[in-house]
Amino acid sequence: MTVLDTEVLVIGSGAGGATTAARLAEAGRSVLVVEEGAWVPAEATVPFSLEEMVAKYRHRGGAAALGSPAVAYAEGSCVGGSTEINSGLWHRLPDHLAEDWRRTYAIDEFTAPTLERYAEEMEATIGVSSLPGPPPVSSAILADGATKLGWESTEFPRVFRYAPDGSGVKQTMTRTMLPRATAAGAVVQPRCRIKRLTFAGGRVTGARAVLTHDDGATETVQLRADHVFVCGGAIQSPALLQRSGIRRGIGNGLKLHPTIKVAARFPFPVDHDDVPMHRIIEFAPYLTIGGSASRRGQVALALAESGAPYQEALADWESVAVYYAAIRSEGSGRVIAVPGFEAPIVTYRLTPGDLSRLARGLIHLGEALLAAGATELYPSVIDGGVVHDVQGLGQWWDAVTPARANLMTVHLTSSIRIGENAELAGADSFGRIRNVANLRVNDASLLPEGPGVNPQAAIMTVAARNADHFLATS
Ligand SMILES: Cc1cc2nc3c(=O)[nH]c(=O)nc-3n(C[C@H](O)[C@H](O)[C@H](O)COP(=O)(O)OP(=O)(O)OC[C@H]3O[C@@H](n4cnc5c(N)ncnc54)[C@H](O)[C@@H]3O)c2cc1C
Repeated sequence: MTVLDTEVLVIGSGAGGATTAARLAEAGRSVLVVEEGAWVPAEATVPFSLEEMVAKYRHRGGAAALGSPAVAYAEGSCVGGSTEINSGLWHRLPDHLAEDWRRTYAIDEFTAPTLERYAEEMEATIGVSSLPGPPPVSSAILADGATKLGWESTEFPRVFRYAPDGSGVKQTMTRTMLPRATAAGAVVQPRCRIKRLTFAGGRVTGARAVLTHDDGATETVQLRADHVFVCGGAIQSPALLQRSGIRRGIGNGLKLHPTIKVAARFPFPVDHDDVPMHRIIEFAPYLTIGGSASRRGQVALALAESGAPYQEALADWESVAVYYAAIRSEGSGRVIAVPGFEAPIVTYRLTPGDLSRLARGLIHLGEALLAAGATELYPSVIDGGVVHDVQGLGQWWDAVTPARANLMTVHLTSSIRIGENAELAGADSFGRIRNVANLRVNDASLLPEGPGVNPQAAIMTVAARNADHFLATS
């Protein structure tokens, strides 16, 4: 069996893993990053296309948290993780949440000034900016609808660098942190799935992995490391720890931002290459309204989710775009690794309050889209009713039921929470797993609750902070 030695093993190369690897390698540590997915150059696939789903998504995009209703979710699985497929919208963790989490979970060194310092550094490092010119039509629709209703909206900055001609390039991990890590000597090994961690004498000694070669042949590899960072994301990290026999505080408390959609038809063409940068924040942080990827495939899916005849709208898909209302949920879920199966079972229990907030969100979304000139609204609710005017929106109140609502999410967090409150948190204030001194988690799993905003900024901020703590103490 092949045996590889490293000082620090980083499992997963997404927002958390790439940030960890760059920071440790630049501080002179020997780092090996292993990533289950392939290395697909960022420019090899068209953003939000079917090819991208095939090449870069886990299970090609199809997964669901079981519940009533189930919530479909998506994760990246490629070098760079979900940052390669996301929309790049950037929102710092709100100060009031950081303070709330610090108190509730007893998190050391989690003050607003500390987090702000790291957030600023991340922004300067990867490049966060606003559009250099006017927004595309699909984005302006949200701003326009909000203005007409007297609601607050804003353009979110993104992890983009823009050229003078206005064209932008998303600053994914394969374009930012991973090149920094490799320039400082880190090695990135794609197509290497960690099956389980290995232990001796109360310490983690490394991991057992399966490496897939270019010809499809697989090989079992033993990795030996002085320190291990698990950064597989909020679903895969707890599943790996459970497979490795670590269960206390691992996998419960999963949070997600459930999202309900509307496919909106306009009497004018709408752009489809990018996602809207505007958000309606009138009802934030518990309810946010925004726009989704709207290529033909996504439009078809969103139209079909209403259960209404959609052929005519689909034929006119260039005038249709998909929008959503996302909530900060009171419910929570679990990740459960099942012996003998590769994928864990994921469950999520929405509360009646969550469903009621989703119904309210759907109606506010409809109001904004109608105000912006939409003529037909198809909700992601089976037989929810196609709406043409404000009077029609009332029927959606009773339609958002467990049996009829089609929900999805791309924000998954909180399955291994940080803090000194061991009753609530599976890791300590800096992501260390209790009773295994040299094992840390450093990804979305650590955020103690759903942030109510796009999570990448908070994940990278916390990951950089935790990496510095490691450097200072190990
Ligand atoms: C479609 C989509 C759109 C999004 N849009 C936004 C947005 O606009 N703004 C925002 O802030 N957030 C957005 N997000 C969420 C954001 O991208 C994630 O929250 C963030 O990337 C999570 O970081 P992470 O390090 O926890 O996990 P990931 O970035 O998901 O990285 C985890 C990596 O670990 C690998 N891995 C897992 N298990 C193993 C194993 N056993 N062995 C080896 N490798 C393993 C995975 O293959 C994956 O590549 C979006 C997500 C998606 C899917």
